[in-house]
Parts: sequence; C-alpha cells; structure tokens
Amino acid sequence: MPRFVFLGAPGAGKGTQAEILSREARLAHVSTGDLLRAAAAAGTPLGREADGHIRAGRLVPDGLVLALLRDRLDRPDARAGFILDGFPRNRPQAEALATITPLDAVVWFELPSAVLVDRLAGRRVCTQCGTVYNVSSRPPRTAGRCDRDGAGLVQRPDDRPEAVTTRLKVYADQTAPLLEYYRGRGLVRSIDAAGTPEDVTARLRAVLEAAAGRGDAATSPPRRSPGPRSR
Ligand SMILES: [Zn+2]
Repeated sequence: MPRFVFLGAPGAGKGTQAEILSREARLAHVSTGDLLRAAAAAGTPLGREADGHIRAGRLVPDGLVLALLRDRLDRPDARAGFILDGFPRNRPQAEALATITPLDAVVWFELPSAVLVDRLAGRRVCTQCGTVYNVSSRPPRTAGRCDRDGAGLVQRPDDRPEAVTTRLKVYADQTAPLLEYYRGRGLVRSIDAAGTPEDVTARLRAVLEAAAGRGDAATSPPRRSPGPRSR
C-alpha cells in the first residue's frame, strides 16, 4: 500500500498537492496540524492535552503528536495508504515515525528560495475564516476581501519578507539532517515544485505511481504485475 511523506519548505505547495493527490488516489491526507485541531475539537483526552499546549502557545510534544498519529494511521482509510503532510519536521521525529509505520517514499518539494520568499510574502489570510489567498497565485475575487465571507484579508507577521527569510533558514537547518536520514534509506524522491499546481500534480503522479508500484502488488495497476493474478 502507498505510504508517503511530503516534505517541503513553507510555500512549496505540499499541502495543496497532498489534498489533490489524496483525493485522486483515494489515500488518507494526514496533516498533523488538522489532526491536532480535530482532536482538540473532539475533546478526547489526547485532544484536551494538545489543546492545552496550543492555547498556551507551546509546541505540542512529539510523544503526543505520535500518539494521535498512531490512532489516525490505524483507521481504515489510512490503512489503504496515506500522505503524511507536516510531519516529521526533524530527525528525531522521523526516527519515532519509523517505529509506527514503514514508508514507500519521501517526496521532497524542491523550489529556489527566491521563489519561496515571493510566494510566502504574497500570502493573505482571512481574519474571519482563516482561508489563505495569494496575491499572485490565488487572488480573491475582490482585492483584500475573502470570497467566502467578505471579511478583510491580512498578511500574517511571519509572512513579511524579513520573517520569511528567517523561517526558511530555520526550515533548511532542520530539514537537512532529515533529508540525509531518508536519503540513507533510499526513500527520497525529489520533484521540481515550480510552475502551476497542475504541472506539479502531473510530476507527482508519475513519482507516486512509480514508488507505489514497487510495493504491494495488490495496489499496482494490473499491467505492472509480472504474473497472472487471482481474485
Ligand atoms: Zn473568510
């Protein structure tokens, strides 16, 4: 079964692509950010604990994220395959993840930092519903207003160019050892994340099909099977 991690700097488009491809390939899109918010909203014991950290502005401890992740990956939809988005962020998390599940591929979204800075600095967020726009790639119908509710759009302080440069530097420092770890395991598939979302989706499709085809024959297209198949 296809089990993927999407890795890329903020602004590389991995969340958008994870959403598109999970729908298309019927894989569970597991975003740790969404997972934490959903658990907090559901009020489960783990969720209440996560909520306490989030409200206090603290990072949610790895052990808690992993416990939520273990539960999530055990649900039927994820057992058919998943795309993990937003986790792991560093090498210790990658090592912990390896104790929960094997992976088929780690897709690395490559984009020059100048392009990332442009994309992030163009982000605008709705003050009401949190929908994210981009002045160049995903503009609202009316400038400065949310399409859904008409509320004002703002630039988050950490999307200002000087903050973006710092964020990308932090990300690169954390990710280098993570990529090295996965490269050592032969799991990294780099894709060119430049161009339109459609271009990137097409590149990803090819990478994911090739990676999934190496695994369980039952999930591969019939033409890839070496021998006769029985039902
Ligand atoms: Zn809105």
